[in-house]
Amino acid sequence: MINVDQLVAIDIHTHAEKSCRMPTDDEAQAMEEAKKKYFKHATGQPSIPEIASYYRERRMACVIFPVDSECATGMHRVPNDEVAELVAQNSDVMIPFASIDPHKGKMGVREARRLIEEYGVKGFKFHPSIQAFYPNDRLAYPLYELIAEHGLPALFHTGQTGIGAGMPGGGNVRLKYSNPMLLDDVAADFPDMPIILAHPSFPWQEEALSVATHKPQVYIDLSGWSPKYFPPILIQYANTLLKHKMLFGSDFPLITPDRWLADFAKIPIKDEVRPLILKENAVRLLKLRPETV
Ligand SMILES: [Zn+2]
Repeated sequence: MINVDQLVAIDIHTHAEKSCRMPTDDEAQAMEEAKKKYFKHATGQPSIPEIASYYRERRMACVIFPVDSECATGMHRVPNDEVAELVAQNSDVMIPFASIDPHKGKMGVREARRLIEEYGVKGFKFHPSIQAFYPNDRLAYPLYELIAEHGLPALFHTGQTGIGAGMPGGGNVRLKYSNPMLLDDVAADFPDMPIILAHPSFPWQEEALSVATHKPQVYIDLSGWSPKYFPPILIQYANTLLKHKMLFGSDFPLITPDRWLADFAKIPIKDEVRPLILKENAVRLLKLRPETV
């Protein structure tokens, strides 16, 4: 349904944070308040149809997902089914990813299979720090096997996270799980599963660049930070060795695409590389253009 030629950009990283069907989760309130303080420009929690209109107005498409950390945090997720159904109603501008807490074991794998078969979800989001697992832990391997079997991408939060920042004990969120070097094992064990390392991976930027340079199926999304704070080495790799593997992502609603794109316009990315990052790399990765025989 997505007509890529009509689009100016594809945002690989947006969040479905508000459920229209579930009551507000009291357990999540402290975390939400802390997040608002950390991301000063946060725009609240728009609904999925509101997000779709925002992207449609700008002739952009977005990948959207919830984050399931129910086992680790005890906070309700926005249901994968709700996201997939609402995305299906906005399939001209939205691409559904799902999220399963790897601690859910076989039930999680079963849900993932159903989401692929029933809704055609196009990838999966993981947040190792919030889900409290090492991405190379065998615990998550049955999920990866299913994802790899369908040739779908898995997107992993990497680096420091704003979630829990400033709360006592960081809201019990541990940064160690989000070292991108842990994904090198996963990339070696699942060569057929594209992997997206989300965000400039502070304080492990060079680890992320190294893994993405070494493993052909590893990509980097540039979401979560205004481009004006990108370290020079990230810009250097985006312009050269990794120009076919860097992806525009905002982290909406935490950062708006408007702000991200305005700041991206000001950093020294080569003109011929800009369309690759903004759209073409995502088109290839997500197989959005029908194969011409
Ligand atoms: Zn995110």
